[in-house]
Amino acid sequence: MGKKEILKNDENCAGCMLCVLSCSLFNFGVFSTEKSFIKLDKDDRTQRFTLSFDDGCISCGECVKSCKYNALMWKDEDSRN
Ligand code: SF4
Ligand code: SF4
Repeated sequence: MGKKEILKNDENCAGCMLCVLSCSLFNFGVFSTEKSFIKLDKDDRTQRFTLSFDDGCISCGECVKSCKYNALMWKDEDSRN
């Protein structure tokens, strides 16, 4: 793979959409909830969120930086400098 891996923890996700918007801004230059490599699905029954990455994700890490709820993190944070 060679790509850095991002771990997600759906349980921690508060649905703030910051990750979606920062991906959109960084990669497409727009604020859009549609144009983003990370998606958020809400289960209306449980009110829980599920995060997913599109194939286009370049592992830039903008979404990880933007998440204040520890729902996104690098897989091997110690080896990152
Ligand atoms: S790591 Fe992927 S999903 Fe996250 S901001 Fe970058 S391109 Fe978007
Ligand atoms: S920034 Fe974090 S808490 Fe907010 S929607 Fe994204 S994963 Fe969920």
